[in-house]
Amino acid sequence: MDLLEHQAMRLFAAHQVPVPAGEVAASPSAAGAIAARLGGATVIKAQVKVGGRGKAGGVRLAATPSAAVACAAEILGMEIKGHRVREVLVASASDIVTEYYLAFLIDRSAREIIAMFSESGGMDIEQVPASSIVRTPIDPGLGPPADAFPADVAPVAAKLWDVFIASDATLVEVNPLIVDAAGRVLAVDGKVTLDDNAFFRQDFSDISTSPEDPSEARAASLGLNYVKLDGTVGIIGNGAGLVMSTLDVVAGAGARPANFLDIGGGAGAQVMADALSVVLDDPAVKSLLVNVFGGITACDAVANGIIQALDRLGDAVTRPIVVRLDGNNAAAGRAILAAAAHPMVTLVDTMDDAAARAAELGKA
Ligand code: GDP
Ligand code: MN
Repeated sequence: MDLLEHQAMRLFAAHQVPVPAGEVAASPSAAGAIAARLGGATVIKAQVKVGGRGKAGGVRLAATPSAAVACAAEILGMEIKGHRVREVLVASASDIVTEYYLAFLIDRSAREIIAMFSESGGMDIEQVPASSIVRTPIDPGLGPPADAFPADVAPVAAKLWDVFIASDATLVEVNPLIVDAAGRVLAVDGKVTLDDNAFFRQDFSDISTSPEDPSEARAASLGLNYVKLDGTVGIIGNGAGLVMSTLDVVAGAGARPANFLDIGGGAGAQVMADALSVVLDDPAVKSLLVNVFGGITACDAVANGIIQALDRLGDAVTRPIVVRLDGNNAAAGRAILAAAAHPMVTLVDTMDDAAARAAELGKA
């Protein structure tokens, strides 16, 4: 699970990592009230689980509470890489002198935990040459070696290492880790990925209460495996392998997936209705690709599920749906969809052709 910035900040603070004071707001007036309480200049920051908010206009400095209201009004409702902004973090603005980049993460290919550190942190970290990012392998029993960071950064790095270990994180990234005009080192941004497999021994009740992406929350409550991405083609498939290759063929056809949803093995009518409604709920979806390989659940059952789901959803089906059925009873499944002749449904025989069609419709 990825944390939102304000959740990461709260986790940092709980481990004595210095962070600016701040609170989260869902309305411009609430943002103004927080700015007034904090006093002084504030920074208003979109709370979405994607990077590059600064470049997208999702991070603004506000000199006064009324400026904070105006900034929050602009940022709330904004869409950043397909993610709608529902909350902003209102934090005391820092007087930034230096921007570092610091991360602890698991390097899976090297099978070790590493620290990454650069003196050229900030919004252009992607352009920083690899040679100026120092990678230090870490013995998890010992923690980061003292010489992995500059002297002023080392104590804060040690606290961030505590966060990484104590939270069972797979990533703790701070960009920028700043030095302010008073010489203080502060984490002014935070990206944390927690290892879901360790949740049984963690208690995150205080940080995971705020609403995530509403579609993700709804899918989770329906027991569906849904992931939000930043393109325009919604994807429903059965089985993780098929869904992953569907993402690839859609990308190969020149489009970007808006999300994907794995309906798993038993794709009955209710599961299909839930899946279609979750994916169609995403305003970024311009077209939808349903790619099912019939196995234990035969394609005729899936086709009946799709028809019943479309009936149930009625007018909510506002975007074209490309369906590809293969495997067990594929011919019968296609015949059922062809006979139903739903105006929004296009039946395509092969995965590549279906992806091409969905990509074309998704460009509109
Ligand atoms: P990101 O673009 O999503 O990574 O969002 P960040 O939180 O990293 O903010 C982007 C940039 O905004 C940072 O690299 C800083 O340059 C700037 N920024 C963020 N907070 C402050 C602040 O408190 N004061 C000032 N002066 N700049 C800030
Ligand atoms: Mn950042």
